[in-house]
This record gives sequence, structure tokens and C-alpha cells, in this order.
Amino acid sequence: MDENHFKDALLRKRGELVGSGGIKPLQASMENNTRQGDMADQASGNNEVHIQLKLKATDAKILQAIEEALWRIEKGSYGLCRDCGEPIAQARLNAIPWTRVCISCKEKQNS
Ligand SMILES: [Zn+2]
Repeated sequence: MDENHFKDALLRKRGELVGSGGIKPLQASMENNTRQGDMADQASGNNEVHIQLKLKATDAKILQAIEEALWRIEKGSYGLCRDCGEPIAQARLNAIPWTRVCISCKEKQNS
């Protein structure tokens, strides 16, 4: 499992979403909390929720999943299905690096 490859893919996708949505990643904005004075000029309401609402619902969902996937990489549990705990197929991760569940659990959800 080449986690760095997936981490790159996740970060790149996050960059796309964040760029198009015009928001900062959650983590970065939390780190910036100590310097909120600087940002006050740009955003009238320094409100995380407010900013999130500006994102398209789908993008926000993917962004959330990406944050979770990056967190799982840090924890060493990346690539394991959230529901059954089995490893997720490499091909599936290549297609959707931020997926939380394996293909069989996904199919169960849809049925
Ligand atoms: Zn599963």
C-alpha cells in the first residue's frame, strides 16, 4: 500500500475543491485561529459553518471524506473499510481515494 501516493491524490483533490469553493481547508483555518485578526478583513463573519455552507453540498461531503481519509493515513488505518474493517480494493482506492467503505458494503448501502 503506497499511502503517500494516496495522500498526494487526496491533497490534490482537496486543493481543487478548496480552490473552487474559495475556502481554506478546515485544518489550516483551525491553525490560523490564533491570527483571526488578520482574517477579519476578508471575512465579515469568521464562521466556519458559514463558510462551509457556501460549498456545494457534494463538494462539502467529499471534502469531509478527504479530511477523514487524511486522518486515517496519519492513524495508519487508511484503506480499511469503515463498516466491515476489511481492506478496500486498491482499484477502488485509486478511483476514489477518499472512500470510507469497501465495494460490498457500498452495495449493501445502495440496496
Ligand atoms: Zn466493508
